[in-house]
Amino acid sequence: MNSYLVDQEGYYGEFGGAYVPEILHQCVENLQKAYLPILESADFQQEYHALLRDYVGRPSPLYLAKRLSERYGATIYLKREDLNHTGAHKINNTVGQILLARRMGKRRIIAETGAGQHGVATATVCALMDMECIVYMGETDVQRQHVNVEKMKMLGATVVPVKSGNKTLKDATNEAIRDWCCHPSDTFYIIGSTVGPHPYPDLVARLQSIISQEIKGQLQEHAGRDYPDYLMACVGGGSNAAGTIYHYIDDPRVKIVLAEAGGLGVDSGKTAATIALGQVGILHGAKSYVIQSPDGQIEEPYSISAGLDYPGIGPMHANLAAKGRARVIPVNDDEAVAAAYELTRLEGIIPALESAHALGALSKMQFRPEDVVVLTVSGRGDKDMETYLNYYKK
Ligand SMILES: *Cc1c(COP(=O)(O)O)cnc(C)c1O
Repeated sequence: MNSYLVDQEGYYGEFGGAYVPEILHQCVENLQKAYLPILESADFQQEYHALLRDYVGRPSPLYLAKRLSERYGATIYLKREDLNHTGAHKINNTVGQILLARRMGKRRIIAETGAGQHGVATATVCALMDMECIVYMGETDVQRQHVNVEKMKMLGATVVPVKSGNKTLKDATNEAIRDWCCHPSDTFYIIGSTVGPHPYPDLVARLQSIISQEIKGQLQEHAGRDYPDYLMACVGGGSNAAGTIYHYIDDPRVKIVLAEAGGLGVDSGKTAATIALGQVGILHGAKSYVIQSPDGQIEEPYSISAGLDYPGIGPMHANLAAKGRARVIPVNDDEAVAAAYELTRLEGIIPALESAHALGALSKMQFRPEDVVVLTVSGRGDKDMETYLNYYKK
């Protein structure tokens, strides 16, 4: 069957694979061999689901947003990942990866982080499991995201400021890969999104697939059928979107709509709209779409939302876009901020800036009144209050 999930070789159509330095081959191969038997074991499943329930607070609610539905002329449900412990979907993944790391006998955890959300989610599970935690973070981001740096330190992690390049997420990722090369035997690299060399995109998608697994049951209960007409989510690297669509990916009844960060506009030179710019390249171990100059240099992305400010996109999503399975809509800064204020006033929910991009795509849709829409609110807006408050002062 032609599926949109990963194939035996780690590819999604022409995208994906594992393009890593020689020294990491063994490491990546070990992970490729180990991850599925461990994830599918009864022992892992039991511990993972117990933590999701009692520690993360799952299942997250599926909420019928009545006033938002009225505004857009369809039945809109919100999948509330903002209500998870640590405030976003990222914890679903870090809980799973740390259990995998322990079963592979690793003692030392490394991670990269941009805004600090994945760093906090990783430091959280390291505290829980009493594991050493080193988080690489661009120096610019260390300054911009001070509260998250303090949280990671309070949780016992070592935060290493990265001074190379533009001192942001891309550079932090390079540094984490370098660390992994130096400590291949005792170190587990917890990647925060559906990016990186195979098997990471598939590993992270599976760990986030709890989102669509819950949607199925909850929709059946709420709407009397277990599938929606539309699934909507924002895409940085693609993990909350992957989780949202996972169990529907090969179901043609369900349309997939993804929102990427337009920044100041797709043609402005200040954007993170990877799909809209549409150039194939290799970044951080996988073949996908990347934002690059004509001679192949990775270019600095821009978005008001730190979580979407990445010059690549997961190979799963690149393939969905290339094959026309998903519609990818760029949503600019101003549209996202307006959508965040709108949700706040209509439903009393302050979303993360990343999630606000998914909400910003609603006004670009043409729904029929009978359409059922599920939109994932990937995180809460507490971390973004300063940005929201300052936005209209300028
Ligand atoms: C990190 C983050 C994102 C973007 O990451 P994905 O892997 O694309 O999901 C989206 N929303 C929130 C709240 C985040 O913290």
